[in-house]
Amino acid sequence: MPLHLATHSSSLEHHTPRGHPERVDRITAVTGALRSGAVDVLELDAPKVHEDLLASVHSRSYLESVRTFCSSGGGSLDPDTYVVPASYEAALHAAGAGPALVNRMRTHSGPGFVAVRPPGHHAERDRAMGFCLFNNIAVTAKFLAEMGQRVAIVDWDVHHGNGTQNTFFKDPSVMYVSLHEFPFYPGTGWVSELGEGDAVGTTINIALPNGTTSTDYLAAFRQLVLPPVRQFDPSWILISNGYDAHVDDPLGGLRLESEHYGWMAAALCDIVPSDRIVAFLEGGYDLGALESGSIATARGLLGAYGDFELPDEVVGQARRVTDMAADLISRHWDLG
Ligand SMILES: [Zn+2]
Repeated sequence: MPLHLATHSSSLEHHTPRGHPERVDRITAVTGALRSGAVDVLELDAPKVHEDLLASVHSRSYLESVRTFCSSGGGSLDPDTYVVPASYEAALHAAGAGPALVNRMRTHSGPGFVAVRPPGHHAERDRAMGFCLFNNIAVTAKFLAEMGQRVAIVDWDVHHGNGTQNTFFKDPSVMYVSLHEFPFYPGTGWVSELGEGDAVGTTINIALPNGTTSTDYLAAFRQLVLPPVRQFDPSWILISNGYDAHVDDPLGGLRLESEHYGWMAAALCDIVPSDRIVAFLEGGYDLGALESGSIATARGLLGAYGDFELPDEVVGQARRVTDMAADLISRHWDLG
């Protein structure tokens, strides 16, 4: 079974200022690792996203403002988010990668991996934020939902995916579950944020303190993420796949090691078949962690981690917040 890898050369033309962590080398690290022969890869050249689909996540006035800002030379869209003229094209291909991959996966077996820039999960309906222009994973979730599919998004980037959460906060048909460092950028994602109206319970936030060990992270994943996602009974799982929760990441303060990404990916394959899972590259700013982490994720999705065991119980400093989260989540889902 191959890994379906969607990427596009325009991701390499979205240049950021010297020293900016979200840089071209991140993509070449991931695609280079995946093309190295460690896993069997079938590539897909990401097309541009359909404008109407993009407009189901972002306002047309925002899309037009990004287009004109880029074409007039670019610059700084927010304190962290820079664009050059080529960034608009890159962002259109980045948002188009997921839907194209889904279309291929409907007829070809194997999991999906999207390796594009700019990343997406901070992008709001009307606003670029945190290195993100268009919300790539939200666009794909909308695409699937419009086809009647039931989508769960699991976000293990070290930052909370505020844009994705807001897109689906009142929508009971798409589940959003995030594990992230808290307090941290962007400031959202406290455990009490659970969704609104008839969508209460379909947003879940595991807000982990700086320095949380990999053991506690993985125990939280097992106890608080897997049971609700399984009970939601998704037909597709999309992963906001950031490698900035890796112990080597220069921005994040969590402590995952590369193989843990494989374990988490493998655990999700127990909920839906792996050819209904797509991992979307979000953050991750250490090139070595991007390389080894993406291979581990791919191997996990391809069934190469048969014998891992996720820890049973949160035992360290994260316990206070995971107990609080468990209390809230258990009002909507059976945590066993
Ligand atoms: Zn991040």
